[in-house]
Amino acid sequence: MPEKIFTIPINEAMDKHEGCPLCSLRAKLEADNLKYSLGAAMMEPDVRIEMNRLGFCSKHFDDMFSAKNKLALALILESHLDEVGALFPAPDPEPGRKKKKPAKGADEADSVSELAESCFICSRIKGTARRYYSNFVYLWDKDPAFRVKLAGQPFICVTDAAGILRAGKAELKPSSYAELKDALNVLVGSYIASIRADVTKYCQSFDYRNADKPLGEEKNAVEKAIKFLR
Ligand SMILES: [Zn+2]
Ligand SMILES: [Zn+2]
Repeated sequence: MPEKIFTIPINEAMDKHEGCPLCSLRAKLEADNLKYSLGAAMMEPDVRIEMNRLGFCSKHFDDMFSAKNKLALALILESHLDEVGALFPAPDPEPGRKKKKPAKGADEADSVSELAESCFICSRIKGTARRYYSNFVYLWDKDPAFRVKLAGQPFICVTDAAGILRAGKAELKPSSYAELKDALNVLVGSYIASIRADVTKYCQSFDYRNADKPLGEEKNAVEKAIKFLR
């Protein structure tokens, strides 16, 4: 029996009809994880070990910097710098200070690359998003009303279409997966056609011959295309 704790928030996000429903769930997840990272969790040793090991991506460092809790961020940075410092073992300016030793036999290039590419918040979001996708395809498979809901969405972005398809391929019968792909082809395919037409009109508006033709909804074409493609 698959875990289905996210079926209610997924349905609620679908009822909003504001952009990609899974992006709106992810935005909430992101805000919750930011609060979690700068909250009491950062004082828990197990959580801190993970933060030190994974670090943060540039977006989430920026988000944490913009948040109000500078002391929590500075404490996180202090211990994370020790972890990073172990990968760049310069002569110690404070002899006697306890220093982390790099793992034996680890390849420095691999270790530094892994650190540069990992993020504590991204990894937590990815874990929950996988469960969203799994619940999403479960609903799609079992609930005929959900299929109607999906067809009525403004769009599903490329990232979330990928997650849904991956979950569908792994968890649905081949016939059901084929129907899911068909449903996304209709929804996403027609959105691409409409946004492509708007982008073209936007490009044409730069032509001096169109200077006296004001843009309608197409004025938001670039922003809309980026929201869909990210
Ligand atoms: Zn999305
Ligand atoms: Zn991140």
